[in-house]
Amino acid sequence: MNRTGPPAVELDGVTRRYGETTAVDDLSLAVREGEFFTLVGPSGCGKTTTLRLIAGFEDPTQGEVRFSGESVTGVPPEDRDVGVVFQNYALFPHMTVGENVAYGLSFTDPPGGGSAEARVRELLELVDLGGMADRDPDTLSGGQQQRVAMARALAPGPDVLLLDEPMSALDAKLRERLRVQVREIQQELGITTIYVTHDQEEALAVSDRVAVMRDGTPEQVAPPRTIYREPATEFVATFVGDNNVLSGEVTAVRSTDAADADSGQTIADVTVDSTTLPVALEADSDLSSGDRLTFCVRPERLAVDADRNALTATVTSAEFLGETTRVHLDWDGRELLLRAEDPPTGTVTVGFAPTDAHIVDRRS
Ligand code: ATP
Repeated sequence: MNRTGPPAVELDGVTRRYGETTAVDDLSLAVREGEFFTLVGPSGCGKTTTLRLIAGFEDPTQGEVRFSGESVTGVPPEDRDVGVVFQNYALFPHMTVGENVAYGLSFTDPPGGGSAEARVRELLELVDLGGMADRDPDTLSGGQQQRVAMARALAPGPDVLLLDEPMSALDAKLRERLRVQVREIQQELGITTIYVTHDQEEALAVSDRVAVMRDGTPEQVAPPRTIYREPATEFVATFVGDNNVLSGEVTAVRSTDAADADSGQTIADVTVDSTTLPVALEADSDLSSGDRLTFCVRPERLAVDADRNALTATVTSAEFLGETTRVHLDWDGRELLLRAEDPPTGTVTVGFAPTDAHIVDRRS
């Protein structure tokens, strides 16, 4: 990935309105060359509109889109050097697989100066469909058809690949396999890729960086691990994976002593209703008693029969997920989630290490 040159794709203060609706709201993003960048968020948050603005199917109401530092305002889609794959891969049914891929070369010569035939063969090999050039698209599985669509989009050798929910029509198992293949192809070509999905697990699995969008604007842009472990807001904390979000008042800020397991750590005691829970702070935190704090603890970080920070809750239901069980708890009218291999029943005490709590909001 090139971190020194201008971003491969940049949106600078881009807004797109449709009448009263603001689909994309003052959006600024910079996607690096060779990066696999994913836009994820709930339905209607502006993902597809953002992709269409990059492709040139839509014009911004305000702001500018730039490719490698150059404005593409007024440049039509066919001159933008982008390959686009949509949700409904729309292969031409009256053409063979090979003809469908060759269609991607209708308006341009194959990159590198070889023949169109050789380029089609090369791309079908790349998407693992070597030898299928003469098949009709309707004799292929959904995943295979989607790979043909990808080969067609890649045929002219675009600088940027745009993928809009390319797997949403496929079943779960196939989606998992295809996303690995898409990532492998992207890595092999080193092509800048912008991927739209509403599936947060998919976003974490394939991306170099993820933008979690809400109401036309990103709430957080970061690598998958950061999104999961250090969500910037409560929305990100709960949209990406399960989470327990708790709010309370800081009743003390203290340092743990050397005898403590978390020695040297600064801790805020946060009182949620009448239970005091410890939350680890950054060393330079200027939090003080009386502040309000909202923090989250992942279900897999809650431990049963914890001997510290314990809160007592009742098991209300459990969902067996194979590897683990997702246990729903009632804690004084609040729902908490726990992940456990051996799900408890009845009344349980659960707790967490202060460093497993992550702060998402604070107010003085
Ligand atoms: P989904 O996951 O459901 O596809 P999305 O995040 O891709 O959603 P967009 O399709 O970008 O969301 O839509 C964002 C908002 O803009 C929505 O409220 C949508 O109704 C509106 N919108 C998008 N395109 C148009 C249009 N051509 N005319 C009017 N409103 C539009």
